[in-house]
Amino acid sequence: MLQLFNTMSRRREKITALSDNTIRMYTCGPTVYDYAHIGNFRSFLFSDLLVRYLQFKGFKTRHVMGITDIDDKIIKRGLDKGVDPLKLALEFEGIFKEELEELNVHSVDVFPRSTELINEIIAQVKRMLGKKAAYQTKNGVYFEVAAFPQYGKLSHQNLEELSKHRIEPDEHKKDQKDFALWKITPKDEINWDSPWGKGRPGWHIEDTAMSEKHLGEQYDLHAGGIDLVFPHHECEIAQMESLTGKPLVKYWVHPEHLMVDGRKMAKSEGNFFTLNDVLKKGYSPQAFRYLCLSSHYRSQLNFTFEGLKTAENTVSGFLGFYQNVKEYKPSKEKNAGKEKKQADKEKQGGDGITELCGNALKKFEEVLDDDLNTPQALAVVFDFVKEVNKAMQEKTLGKSGQKRVIAAIERIDEVLGLLHYAKTKSAQLSEEKIKELIEQREAAKKEKDYEKADEIREKLREKGVLLEDTKDGVKFKIA
Ligand SMILES: [Zn+2]
Repeated sequence: MLQLFNTMSRRREKITALSDNTIRMYTCGPTVYDYAHIGNFRSFLFSDLLVRYLQFKGFKTRHVMGITDIDDKIIKRGLDKGVDPLKLALEFEGIFKEELEELNVHSVDVFPRSTELINEIIAQVKRMLGKKAAYQTKNGVYFEVAAFPQYGKLSHQNLEELSKHRIEPDEHKKDQKDFALWKITPKDEINWDSPWGKGRPGWHIEDTAMSEKHLGEQYDLHAGGIDLVFPHHECEIAQMESLTGKPLVKYWVHPEHLMVDGRKMAKSEGNFFTLNDVLKKGYSPQAFRYLCLSSHYRSQLNFTFEGLKTAENTVSGFLGFYQNVKEYKPSKEKNAGKEKKQADKEKQGGDGITELCGNALKKFEEVLDDDLNTPQALAVVFDFVKEVNKAMQEKTLGKSGQKRVIAAIERIDEVLGLLHYAKTKSAQLSEEKIKELIEQREAAKKEKDYEKADEIREKLREKGVLLEDTKDGVKFKIA
């Protein structure tokens, strides 16, 4: 059974669904005012991994990722750039979704936006006022932390520790821990009508409005970067649980930070990277995806370009292996005897390959059941790769064994999500096709059509094929 570390209980817990074998899951999505950074994407890739593994285990899933498309940062960036903040948010939401696509993340069922749920947000604030969990000031409506004595239970802070945080300093609040549900905004700023005056929602209530609408008032799992535990997730709990009196979420799961060169990523430190920055340097999205898989989600991931390069090589090795297994031809003539024996053994179910595949899948599942230990899972995969390579070299891999190996790799990849790149990128360009394109380029050069020649070179480069003009003609290598 899958066990995950629950931030709330601070121990590993067996995962079971609240109802109909479906894990209802919420992930805090990005605030769309700029490109998302690689630390954000580590967290989103973790959610993707988790959904994939839940499905691998036979659960159904419903995964909601909320997009914060209105907040201080978006308004400020809009003002700085002189554009409508909502247009700016929409633009970066589009970019974000394209980047998820590039990273092969398809596990999100709904991406609600805060600004689509203003009515639901207002309704939640009204309910909190009705329950006396909130109060109104001239600046807006605030959640009264004193009305929810369990505040601090997720981040495991007592009242004294909590009092040190001054969340949104404001002399009109009853207590500095109280947080905004609805903010009255200046006239010239973007706003919505509400019973308390024109304004906009606070950050935390955007998420509970989105999760309640799409998952109900109680659901299975909430994920999001560790930095969101306090105050964000703590406030989500206070809001919903003060309304329902029931636990909002069964499992709270938080991936750790991504560090760069051992330090916290910060623009002022010069070690701040968006995914876009990394891809522009020529690294592939699958290299970043692999890098994230290679460290356990509850340890800090130390990002370095050297590490990314290693990940790039490893992942292309894995894709190459998959291709080799598919193209492998069990040799009939030389090893007819061996083949026959192999076939006999396979019929009896006692050949090495069936066992090898079965054991690899079993171990792969065992280590992932253990709080999603992906580094161990990758070690299992590469042991398997080594054994299969050996069998291919020794020609002891028969036809049905080959089929079993392919099925095992594809099953494993339901979790890893890497073979997608073998199907779509360079690995698909055959040597024949490459030579054909090189000939076309030579012909174009002879006709002095340099534009076409460059176009072909660029096309090949995109597929990871690098050309080199030498005195003996054109040579190519696969990057
Ligand atoms: Zn959130």
